[in-house]
Parts: sequence; C-alpha cells; structure tokens
Amino acid sequence: MARVDHIGIAVRNGEEAVRLYQLLGFRLTGKEYVEDQELWAYFLEGDDGSRIELLEPTGGVIAKFIEKRGEGIHHIAVEVDDVRVLSKKLKEVGFRLIYEEPKKGARSTLVNFIHPKTSYGVLIELIQK
Ligand code: ZN
Repeated sequence: MARVDHIGIAVRNGEEAVRLYQLLGFRLTGKEYVEDQELWAYFLEGDDGSRIELLEPTGGVIAKFIEKRGEGIHHIAVEVDDVRVLSKKLKEVGFRLIYEEPKKGARSTLVNFIHPKTSYGVLIELIQK
C-alpha cells in the first residue's frame, strides 16, 4: 500500500482555516486532540477521498514550526503497511527518522516521520492504520 494519505497543514486557528477548505468543497469529517503531538487536528475530505489535516498546535513542534516558518504545509503523509519495519529499513540505508519508536497519531494510527534534512526538504509522515 503506497499512497498519499493526507497533507498536513500547520495553522494558527483551525476553526477559521476549516472555512476556506469547506468553501473549496471539502467536508469536515472530524476534530481530535492529539496528546502526543500537542495539537488539534481537523480532518477534511474531498470527493475523491483525498484528505487534508489542519494542525492547530497548543505547544510542541508544530507551534515551533509556525513560530519559525509561519503557517503552511507541514508534511505529506504516506500510508505504509508496517511503520516499524519500514523505519528500520530506512535507517539502514541512511535516512533519519524523527522518533526512535513509532508514536500514536490521530485516529489510532501509528506514525513516524522522515527528517526533511534527509528527505529532500519534505517532512514525510509514515502512517500505519
Ligand atoms: Zn499527518
């Protein structure tokens, strides 16, 4: 299974940003507080199942991201079969992973991230459902 699961966008105010995507035709399918990452995630879905997640931080790395770089695209999430196995494989060939062990993501997923320094400037979230 290799497909883009969602695009994560860092925003200061999720409620406000949701309105833009609703105008574009996306449906808001949920909102969840992700303890591990200190953020509110707003889930938006397009007609073809494409998804956008708006990330409104209450602290943590996303807050730092916005401080340093402003709002905007934060990561691209790729669905994978086994995040543990793949993380190990990626490390073996020289990619840097953010977490030693995968963490719990939104909607009871398991996630890890490839550091943008080794993934051509893009923070890639590996997501296992
Ligand atoms: Zn994500």
